[in-house]
Amino acid sequence: MFVLKGTLEVVIGPMYSGKTEELIRRVMRRKIARQNGIIFRVSSDTRNAEELVVSRAGTHLEAKIVSGARDAQMYLDDKLDYVAFDEIQFFESDLVDVVKKFIDAGTDVIVAGLNLDFRSEPFDNVMKIAAMADEIALLKAVCVVCGKDATLTQRLIMKDGEWVPASTKDPIFKVEGSDVKVRYEPRCKDCWKVGE
Ligand SMILES: [Zn+2]
Repeated sequence: MFVLKGTLEVVIGPMYSGKTEELIRRVMRRKIARQNGIIFRVSSDTRNAEELVVSRAGTHLEAKIVSGARDAQMYLDDKLDYVAFDEIQFFESDLVDVVKKFIDAGTDVIVAGLNLDFRSEPFDNVMKIAAMADEIALLKAVCVVCGKDATLTQRLIMKDGEWVPASTKDPIFKVEGSDVKVRYEPRCKDCWKVGE
């Protein structure tokens, strides 16, 4: 039998741009329409350990915590109306293939993630998924320095009692257990700085 393919909605932007809030809003609309689906979050996303997605504004929905995209793939045969993936930059590259499989199976896919890392380099899996999108929402935050629209994420590290821009040689994700104090801010192109 011919199965209609699913659609792909991509929500991207810097930190503090309300991506999770937007993902929750989109899923809520589907819940009102009595659609069945699951939100997936990867376990290395340690912002909240509970089985929830929580936006910075405090809204939340139940989520399934998985160790990777392959765990989500187990729900492929469930013929869900939609699946959603939050913080997709934390997933491995196999997420691209899993997203394709859900779409081919007729399940709509909604994803949210960072457009660029702190070095202002794209996340490979995010860009590959964005390239397949039926719809992309690029969210903007507010630059904490000048108040203009912010599309970039500034990483700052504590050095000699002062917050300074992180080096591009630092790991893309903060290393757990390292004693380097790290902080992130949304910034515009003019205010975004990279350290040595
Ligand atoms: Zn600025």
